[in-house]
Amino acid sequence: MSCGNHHDVPCVQIHSWMWIYLDNELEQDSAHLVGHHLEECPPCADQFTAERIIQTRIRQCSETVQTPEGLRTRIFTQIQQTITE
Ligand SMILES: [Zn+2]
Ligand SMILES: [Zn+2]
Repeated sequence: MSCGNHHDVPCVQIHSWMWIYLDNELEQDSAHLVGHHLEECPPCADQFTAERIIQTRIRQCSETVQTPEGLRTRIFTQIQQTITE
């Protein structure tokens, strides 16, 4: 997935940072790079929006229902597959 533009940080790198970024656990320098990339790369911005919605839902689910860690991982993997397909 690429918008065809050149980026200082490649899209794959952004994708691997995305969840850490959503958790606000990415170090500030990298978080800045992600923010900059999302501004200039519409495909990544779209994916970021989708992942943020999913993460919010997972948070809401895990707050109301106590799910075993393995189940959460399975759900997460399934959701990821739905997005990438
Ligand atoms: Zn990108
Ligand atoms: Zn791009």
